[in-house]
Amino acid sequence: MIDSGDTIFGKIIRKEIPATIVYETENVLAFRDISPVAPTHIVIIPKRFIKDLASVGPADKEILGELMLVATEVAKRENIEDKGYRIVINTGKQGGQTVFHLHLHLIGGRAMDWPPG
Ligand code: AMP
Repeated sequence: MIDSGDTIFGKIIRKEIPATIVYETENVLAFRDISPVAPTHIVIIPKRFIKDLASVGPADKEILGELMLVATEVAKRENIEDKGYRIVINTGKQGGQTVFHLHLHLIGGRAMDWPPG
């Protein structure tokens, strides 16, 4: 069994709590954010526990690539590819990370501001 970690996302991976899963591979899970900040807001996570982007290394090259590819695939399926979207990886406390299991936010369906808050 892979180590899916002790956070709320680990519980979603192990199906201990529900989530609206929109896409899944052997290594990656994508589900709707419970508190969406845009019409499309999907959380994309590795099934194997990784705390945050700051803790990855060369051994994580493949999973990092897969997370990005899943994001582009989900963007296609959500029909936000043409208009554009944003991928966010909040990292650490000042980066705004609240769940310490590495995740990408795929956000779209409205125009984005820059710089972000
Ligand atoms: P972050 O602040 O970057 O760590 O993002 C964590 C995200 O997880 C937030 O956008 C939350 O709304 C989302 N979230 C927390 N709990 C759940 C849950 N049970 N199901 C779906 N999304 C969640």
